[in-house]
Amino acid sequence: MACISRALIIGGGIAGLSAAIALSRVGVHCDVVEFAGTPLGASMGISGRAAEALDELGVYDECQATSRPFDTTSKALYQWDAAGRLLSSGPQRVGWPGAKTGLGVYRPDFLNVLTEEAKRLGVNIQIGIKVRALEEQADATLATFTNGVEQAYDFIVGADGLNSATRAMVFPEAEKPAYSGQLSIRWMAPGPFVEGEGRYHGSVGRVGFYYVPQGMVYVASVIAAPEPRILSKAEVFELFSRLLDSYTAEPMMELRRRLTPDSKLICNSYYWTLLPPPWHRGRTLLIGDAAHATTSNMGMGGGMALEDGVVLAQCIASASILPEALAAFMERRFERVRIVVESSVAAAKLEQAKAPPSENAALLSGALKAISQPY
Ligand SMILES: Cc1cc2nc3c(=O)[nH]c(=O)nc-3n(C[C@H](O)[C@H](O)[C@H](O)COP(=O)(O)OP(=O)(O)OC[C@H]3O[C@@H](n4cnc5c(N)ncnc54)[C@H](O)[C@@H]3O)c2cc1C
Repeated sequence: MACISRALIIGGGIAGLSAAIALSRVGVHCDVVEFAGTPLGASMGISGRAAEALDELGVYDECQATSRPFDTTSKALYQWDAAGRLLSSGPQRVGWPGAKTGLGVYRPDFLNVLTEEAKRLGVNIQIGIKVRALEEQADATLATFTNGVEQAYDFIVGADGLNSATRAMVFPEAEKPAYSGQLSIRWMAPGPFVEGEGRYHGSVGRVGFYYVPQGMVYVASVIAAPEPRILSKAEVFELFSRLLDSYTAEPMMELRRRLTPDSKLICNSYYWTLLPPPWHRGRTLLIGDAAHATTSNMGMGGGMALEDGVVLAQCIASASILPEALAAFMERRFERVRIVVESSVAAAKLEQAKAPPSENAALLSGALKAISQPY
């Protein structure tokens, strides 16, 4: 029997739903409150041990059915110059016997699979409400919601992302997320397939793309931007057009031909944060981006969020009291996540210093090797 019986999970993103599914499977009743309910519509890679976390959650096969597999023949990490000359095959992914193939999942579909699995296990998911206050009591934490309802819980999980309100409530002294000096513009371009997958390095920034089974081409770019800025739709279009125009490689020119002022471009500034351990205070624990947000240079932030949920449930299931579970969780998670956050930030800095892509690939290969160990 688990050492807690009722948990509140704040945030229904990757970390929150992973925790809800995994905790439900070990007998913890979970309530999830999710404020927005509208995920960003782009693809993302789930690879390495995180693909095993998907399997442990029981949703790998379902995700795989609608995903782009990154098997050994995949060229998605190949590095090309602006003219389309091959620079390298990119960071080395480490394999192990029985390794699950990494997947390029379409985030709305992916969150839908996680949500449905959580509901099937009896998780109560409420959309459109937040937590107004958390009050530690003698044998429970009392949560007050924005709809006025109060409920006592054995355990609270703050999985509310980069700008976590739970972190602000429970760790008011925590440093604000730091800006990385880069922004990303992503686009689900209309199909068909474009030959020459991989990452292209040019004078304005880097662009990578791969094809997804939804009949679209996932295009992700990273551009240096000294200050964080909120760009208008027209400014994002202008910047992305300028980026694609800076390439003479045929795949980039083909993507440029598909781009129109109406294309749905998603622009994010990259921030990162790594909360010093422990990520818990009283009965509240932070997981996912709320505790350790990273730039996507390694493409592992979501994977770490998935692993957090799975490891949390393992720790809860094997401990006799909550503090013991939380100590075990920190022991297993901090170092692994530190490698991802610090390597991603270092990779972002190398890119801004215009270091050769091979230097970046070497840094990321080392980090990928380190996190190829079981979580
Ligand atoms: C451009 C970009 C590309 C990326 N690509 C990849 C990739 O390829 N692979 C990868 O593994 N990772 C990638 N990441 C990182 C990944 O998106 C994050 O690490 C991951 O989404 C973290 O999951 P999370 O559940 O912790 O946080 P989030 O995904 O941010 O989810 C938090 C949830 O909490 C909700 N919420 C927020 N505040 C409240 C509140 N007060 N009350 C209730 N709910 C609240 C939000 O609506 C949201 O649904 C990328 C990130 C970016 C920015």
